[in-house]
Amino acid sequence: ENQPVLTGPALWSAQAHLPSVLGRQLTVDRAEGSYVFTTDGRRLFDGTAGLWHANVGHARPELAEAAYEQMRRLETYHIFGRYLNDRAVELGERLAWLSPIDDPKVILNSGGSDAIDVACKLARRHWQREGRTDKTVILSREFAYHGLHAYGTSIAGLDFNRAGYGTESLVPDTARVSTHDIAAVERTVRTIGPEKIAAIVAEPIQGTGGVNPPAPGYLEGLQRICRENDILLILDEVITGFGRTGHMFATERYGLRPDLITFAKGVTSGYAPLGGVLVAPHIWQPFYRDSSDTPVFRHGATYAGHATAAAVALRNLDILDEDKLLPRVTELEQLLARELNALTARAAVVETRVAGFLGGITLTDDLSAEAVTDELVEHGFITRPLRGNTVQISPPFVTTDDEIRQLVAAIDTVISAQE
Ligand code: PLP
Repeated sequence: ENQPVLTGPALWSAQAHLPSVLGRQLTVDRAEGSYVFTTDGRRLFDGTAGLWHANVGHARPELAEAAYEQMRRLETYHIFGRYLNDRAVELGERLAWLSPIDDPKVILNSGGSDAIDVACKLARRHWQREGRTDKTVILSREFAYHGLHAYGTSIAGLDFNRAGYGTESLVPDTARVSTHDIAAVERTVRTIGPEKIAAIVAEPIQGTGGVNPPAPGYLEGLQRICRENDILLILDEVITGFGRTGHMFATERYGLRPDLITFAKGVTSGYAPLGGVLVAPHIWQPFYRDSSDTPVFRHGATYAGHATAAAVALRNLDILDEDKLLPRVTELEQLLARELNALTARAAVVETRVAGFLGGITLTDDLSAEAVTDELVEHGFITRPLRGNTVQISPPFVTTDDEIRQLVAAIDTVISAQE
């Protein structure tokens, strides 16, 4: 209580221990492709694509023009009740066409945390409507990250994101299952009782939890447990959607059939805040029945289906195609895997993991991922420390082979200097 209170900018940083960051914040004021520029004159390679979002690279004029043209015609119009806007409708059609769920409906909103709130609400609404009123529990995986709105906070598998609000979770009826061990998941489901479980939420490849690819058979096991027990499978593709694994969705890479898919980030590559949910027919059809007692899914927001965000998404999806970025991601994945594998020769490197164009480097306790990522900034590279003393790598898809080699060489230099 007697400590002095620090001030700093009026803007409250997200997810920051403020005394640790105040005075050393990096303010980005410009970007180009895979690089960002800061107000203190740095040019930094964006080795994380921001928060895993800048997939087509930064500051592309085509996307600025798409937003400008849309705003000149119609900034947005809401989609409540009988109103729609043409851009949201068009994006819905495009996403339905790209969707690995056959004949889906598409719910749009403003980001990944929104999408998770909607998916969890819809899962619970589904079972209430079916008359299976005990099915309210949402299971998520240890170390999971599903954003930080009320549901994302409540189902956080990173415990620090759930802590400090007075109850075990903000929204009642949540529990965590093992991230790697499918037999343990099955035991947890039996202990809770499948008749109480509405859905299991899973990132196909865990991101913020440390870049954790699925153990062989794990996702297939989750799907089997869901099918056998009338539990909905929600795949959170907020990071993996729109090309990060070399497929449009990781659902395709792993051959899965989820009931709901959440997406955000890569749908616009971050050029506009947009997220949403792909919904399988057995979930949406009851809300579309031609009857006066057909229920309403009571969800919506002013910016759901925002026309400018949708216009930007449509252009971004064109770019993925025109620039052939999905096959490029497959090449980048292979290169990153080879390069990171060479780092395991270092005593300070416990393990490297690559799945899609996503990499994690886990360090021994002798080194701190935070110190390594801080030092990498001095060498001109942005990376990020994650749970488990892990360094995150997830650059834009427009990264060159040389840039990957330079990034890994810099990591090697920094690690060897700190070893
Ligand atoms: N789900 C996953 C898997 C994420 O990685 C994130 C963000 O990193 C979210 C949800 C939340 O998305 P947003 O930050 O857009 O709300």
